[in-house]
Amino acid sequence: MNERLAMHRLHHPAFFPFLIGLLYYLGAFVGVHFAALESGIVILWPPNAVLLAALLSRPPRDWWPFLVVVLVAEVVADVPAFTVAQALLFGSINIAECVLAASLLRYCLKADMDWHEPKDLSLFLVTVFFIASPAAALGGASVYAFVLERDAPFLTFWRLWWVGDATGLIILTPFLHMVFNTGSWRRHLLPASSRILELLAAWGIAMLACYAVFFWDLHSESYLALTPLAVVAAPVWVAIRFGPLAGSFLTAAVALYVAFGTARGYGPFINESAEHSALLTQEFAVLFTAMVLYIASFVHQNRRKSFMLRKALAEVKELNQVLEERVQLRTQELNDANDKLRLLASTDELTGIYNRRHMRWLGEDLAKRSARNLRPFSVFLLDIDYFKSINDKYGHAMGDLCLQTFVSEVSGSLRAVDYFGRWGGEEFLIIVPDSDCVDLMRFGARLLECARNVRLPVGEDSVSITISIGVAEWSGNSFEDLVSVADNALYRAKGEGRDRVRFGAQLRRGEGGDSALPSV
Ligand code: GH3
Ligand code: MG
Ligand code: MG
Repeated sequence: MNERLAMHRLHHPAFFPFLIGLLYYLGAFVGVHFAALESGIVILWPPNAVLLAALLSRPPRDWWPFLVVVLVAEVVADVPAFTVAQALLFGSINIAECVLAASLLRYCLKADMDWHEPKDLSLFLVTVFFIASPAAALGGASVYAFVLERDAPFLTFWRLWWVGDATGLIILTPFLHMVFNTGSWRRHLLPASSRILELLAAWGIAMLACYAVFFWDLHSESYLALTPLAVVAAPVWVAIRFGPLAGSFLTAAVALYVAFGTARGYGPFINESAEHSALLTQEFAVLFTAMVLYIASFVHQNRRKSFMLRKALAEVKELNQVLEERVQLRTQELNDANDKLRLLASTDELTGIYNRRHMRWLGEDLAKRSARNLRPFSVFLLDIDYFKSINDKYGHAMGDLCLQTFVSEVSGSLRAVDYFGRWGGEEFLIIVPDSDCVDLMRFGARLLECARNVRLPVGEDSVSITISIGVAEWSGNSFEDLVSVADNALYRAKGEGRDRVRFGAQLRRGEGGDSALPSV
C-alpha cells in the first residue's frame, strides 16, 4: 500500500484519537495487572508512551482530542480503585508530563523526531528521564502523600513514580512513534521473505533467552543463574540488520518480558526489597533499550552517510569523465586551430606554396645548418617576364590564373627536398638543398621550360609566358646575401633579354657580388 495513504488512514481524525484512547487504556491495564509488584510498585507505566508517541506524531493544534480521550481512558482504567476526581488528577498529571516532553522536544528539534538520528535520541532520553518524568512525579507523589495520605516518605513516592514513568516512556515511545509515522511499518517489521527467517530466528532466540533468564525463581533449585545480558544479543542483532523500528519492537518486547518476569517474582533482579527489585529491573530495561536504539541509529546514520558518499563519488567520477572528454575535445580543437594558423602563417593564399616569411625562415635555418655541416645549397629567384602586360591586357584574374598555373607547372619539377615559395608579386624563390649533387644549369633550363609550357586560354587562342632566373650558390654567406646575389643575377638576366638563367658570383662570408659566368 502507498505509504502516504496508509499514514493518512491511521491518522484519520475520527480514528486516531479513538485508537490512542484504546491503547492508553490497554497500557494502564497492562501496567496495573502485569508490571506491578505485589507491594503495588509499578515497574514500568506503559500508557504515557502511547500519549507521548501520539503528541510527537501530530502538530500541537491537533493535540486536544488526544488529551480528552486519555482523560476518559484514565478514569475508566482507575475506577473503581480510585474516585473519578482522583482518576482525573492522575490523568492530568500524565497529560502534563507528556505535553511537557513533547513540547520540549518539538522546541529543541525544530523538526519531527527522527529515531535514526543519535542527536534526537539523546534529546529524547534526557528530556524524558531528567525533566518530564521527575517533574510529573512531583504531582504524583503529592497525590499519594497528601490526597491519598499513604504512609511512605514523599521522596519514595516521587522516585517510584519518576523511574516507573520514565522506564515506560523510554521503552515504548520510540516503537509506537515509529509505527504511527511509518506508513509501511509492515514492510519494516516484516521484510522480504528471504530475511523473514532471520527476523523470526532473532525473535526466537530473544524469547528463549528471556525464558532462560527470567522464568526461574531465584530461590528454586533449578535456577539457571544466567546473566541478564543474554537477552541483549538478539535485539542488538535486529537493530543492526533491520533498523530502529524492528530493533525497538523487539527491544520493547524483551523489556516488557523482563518487567513482567520481575513483577511475577522471577528472574535475577528479585531482591529482598521490592523497591530494589523494581529499581534493578528499571535500570536494566532503560540502559538496554537506550543501547539498542543508539546502535540502530548509529548504524543507520553510518549506512546513510556511506551511501551518500558513494553516490557523491560516482557523481564526481562521472563529472570527471565528462570534463576529461571536454578537455580532450578542446585540446583537439586547439591543435587543429594551431595547425591551421601555422599553415596560414606560412603559406601564400593565392598559390598555396610557402610565403616570403616562411621561405626566409627556411633559408636562414638552412644557411645555419650548412655553416655547420658545410653542405652547399642554392637559391633560384624566378620572375615572370612582362607580367604587368598580362594583367593590363587580359585582366587581373588572368594574372592570378597565370601565377597559379605557373606554380603548379614548376611544382611538378621539384624534388621532395626542395622548397618553393612566392617571394613577391610575380617573383618566386626555390631553395635547393644539397645542391652539389644537382646539375644547376640543367635545373634552370627545366624551369625555363616549365614557364614556356604555361598556356593561358584567351578566347580560342592561348598565351604563353617566359621567366628570367637569377641563381646563387651558398659559399658561407648569409641567406640575405645569397638572395641579393640571386637578385643581381636576375637583374642581369632581365637586362640581357629575359627568358634565361644567370648565375651570381660565388661569395665568401660577408662579401657581395655576382658573375656572368655560366649562362643558359
Ligand atoms: P619585367 O619583365 O621587367 O619583370 O616586367 P613585369 O611587368 O613583369 O614587372 P613589373 O614589376 O612591372 O610588374 C609586376 C606586376 O605584377 C605589377 C603588379 O600589378 C602585378 N602583380 C603583383 N602581384 C599580383 C597578383 O597577385 N596578381 C596579379 N594579377 N598581379 C599581380
Ligand atoms: Mg617583378
Ligand atoms: Mg616580371
